[in-house]
Amino acid sequence: MAPAGSAGARAATDEPISIEHLTVTYGRRVALRDVSAVMRRGSFIGVIGPNGAGKSTLLKAILGIVPLRAGSVRIFGRSVREARDRVAYVPQREAVQWDFPVSVLDVVVMGRYRRRGWFRLPNAHDREIARAALDEVGMLDRGDEQIGQLSGGQQQRVFLARALAQQADILLLDEPLNGVDVRTQELVLAIIDRLRADGKTVLMATHDLNTAADACDCLACVNHNLIAYGPAGDTFQPDVLERTYGGSVLVARRDNFGVERRAARHAHLHDHQHEHDQAHAASHETLVAPPTPVDAGGPR
Ligand code: ADP
Ligand code: MG
Repeated sequence: MAPAGSAGARAATDEPISIEHLTVTYGRRVALRDVSAVMRRGSFIGVIGPNGAGKSTLLKAILGIVPLRAGSVRIFGRSVREARDRVAYVPQREAVQWDFPVSVLDVVVMGRYRRRGWFRLPNAHDREIARAALDEVGMLDRGDEQIGQLSGGQQQRVFLARALAQQADILLLDEPLNGVDVRTQELVLAIIDRLRADGKTVLMATHDLNTAADACDCLACVNHNLIAYGPAGDTFQPDVLERTYGGSVLVARRDNFGVERRAARHAHLHDHQHEHDQAHAASHETLVAPPTPVDAGGPR
């Protein structure tokens, strides 16, 4: 992970994501200011920060659906527009209109459109890929149902399947763990592990600090500015989190507990699924992040 703005970062223009001096505004409101970062192949980057910090805006800038006020985003050295089919996106669940009358399988098949061109009807191959993606998220038997009738966790899985079917190199997931059941959370994280092993680059916006520290290689700590960006062991630190959350965040893990936990989780994943389940069940008992930053009066 090259530090943002270093000479190394500037030279690495064919990296999956290369952001330089990015500023995004909505009217007069500055959502992101002068953000620079390089994101590597096979990395899983947690985008953390308080509500309104610009996490979703960062993902949208990489996707190319918000205008840039200044700076640039390059995808594999090309413009976002040229590389659009290499980026898949799972929007924040709250931002999706769910009463649209469309079947689960059709939602996933839509992930194929951009890849094959909008004016060619999906063929048997596309449907096969869509079914495989539904299978991976455990929703193959629900393909004929209406998307609006599923639970939140099931909808999240279907949207992840749509992104998988796109067979992109970069996946942008906006709060995929938000308001979903524990089983779906585990499944999403396990799929991200698989994607990372396949050399994909995954960005996940989340306000769940402990899960981010536990599961991600790197954290991008955003509060309009990029406060810090780098390996979770370096960035999941009291001073960084206090700067990211304006000094009001509970910092309970001064001992790098989250980082140790992460190492344990990976060992288990490669070992026995059963032990991994146990380790993760334990982490859910002991590491419960507040939904919004609060000062719980912990030691400082
Ligand atoms: P986060 O995802 O971290 O909660 P966002 O990226 O959604 O933050 O928003 C960053 C800032 O930009 C916030 O102040 C938000 O109110 C503002 N914002 C986001 N989207 C829009 C929009 N479409 N129009 C105007 N302001 C927006
Ligand atoms: Mg958001």
